[in-house]
Amino acid sequence: MTHARTPESESESVPSTPSLSSRPAWVEVDLGILAANFRLIRADLPAAVQLLYVVKDEAYGMGAVRAGQLALREGASHLAVYTLEEGAALRAAGIRAPILILGERVPEEIAGVLELELIPCVSSLEMARRFSEAGVSRRRPVAVHVKVNTGMNRFGLPWREVDTWTPAFLELGGIEIGGMLSHFAQSDEEDKTFARLQRQRFEDCLRVWKAAGGRVPLAHLCNSGGYLDLPEAHFDLVRVGLLAGGVYPSSVCRRIPGIQPALSVHARVIAIQQLEPGDTVGYGMRWRADRASRIAVLPVGYGDGFPRVRNQGSALIAGRRVPLVGGVAMDALTVDITDLPEVVVGAEAVLMGRQGDEEITAQELARLKQSVTYDVLVGWRRRLPRVYREAETGRV
Ligand SMILES: *Cc1c(COP(=O)(O)O)cnc(C)c1O
Repeated sequence: MTHARTPESESESVPSTPSLSSRPAWVEVDLGILAANFRLIRADLPAAVQLLYVVKDEAYGMGAVRAGQLALREGASHLAVYTLEEGAALRAAGIRAPILILGERVPEEIAGVLELELIPCVSSLEMARRFSEAGVSRRRPVAVHVKVNTGMNRFGLPWREVDTWTPAFLELGGIEIGGMLSHFAQSDEEDKTFARLQRQRFEDCLRVWKAAGGRVPLAHLCNSGGYLDLPEAHFDLVRVGLLAGGVYPSSVCRRIPGIQPALSVHARVIAIQQLEPGDTVGYGMRWRADRASRIAVLPVGYGDGFPRVRNQGSALIAGRRVPLVGGVAMDALTVDITDLPEVVVGAEAVLMGRQGDEEITAQELARLKQSVTYDVLVGWRRRLPRVYREAETGRV
């Protein structure tokens, strides 16, 4: 299989030479799968509930511009980012849709937020006043969403003090309240007790706000886990990130049949070593052959985001699962292909994703990394070129 690569936008400023896009290791994003996931989510969601796609950290590694544009075509109404730079990249690509900027801003970022027409989530009266002043001085209100802390205890106005901040907020000129949001501390585990308590606190805040004459065009609380498992918390919009890429936030949350992972990681065998019994592999000689062995080298290491494990984990080659042997180095890892004599230099391996009937999931890598799937996805470094498989043609 040959690959006509679509380089990431960040490499487009570099003169495009064939050698730059021919690294035999890459992240593949299947836009057909991503589009299908959005259609499945859109069909699963009640029609009245809007879909916001969270594209922070390059849409969890897939590329925020490509994934964001696709989401908007497939029925998402909003996007969300975490940093000004992420918002700027979407605007530079011509995306006009409403973009929320999550988290908290510092005063130095206000001008950038306004310039890019991003919608800030306001977590303090102090920042509300600053946005208010900016709106008054430019004579056009700044659209903001009010962030309420209902128990996550990271960002947001404290739910306990809603009676105090509501009137103070509502008397500010120069801002237009586009919505009110909160965030779950635990939405994807079996026990929903705390999530339900947060939902109750959020509803209490909405009630106080509305009783004081405030409007809430968009109330929103759910991330992927909440969207799947807490329909009573959908309100007007859900904020979905992880699930759109086809990865579930946990093993216990509801499944939507047909949702599949859109991101996979591939490499070609770059060298093969023939070992005698007793020979060792790699730094520290941590693996020793107990038989004549063939070892394939794949040019992906912890410098690319692969977990730094030794004698643990697998790759898929020729549709079979083969074990990693020795330690993962910065730039390469080694697998035992003794039982696959047909494998030659240039053979394609999968490090995350499907090949034949086998699959290495983000969950499997998360266990190796002693972390979560989110971390595995965003952990694939920019050093690995992103290759897009087109939705329409299936070509790469
Ligand atoms: C990241 C994030 C989300 C999306 O969470 P997923 O679990 O990936 O769906 C939603 N809301 C906020 C505030 C976030 O930071």
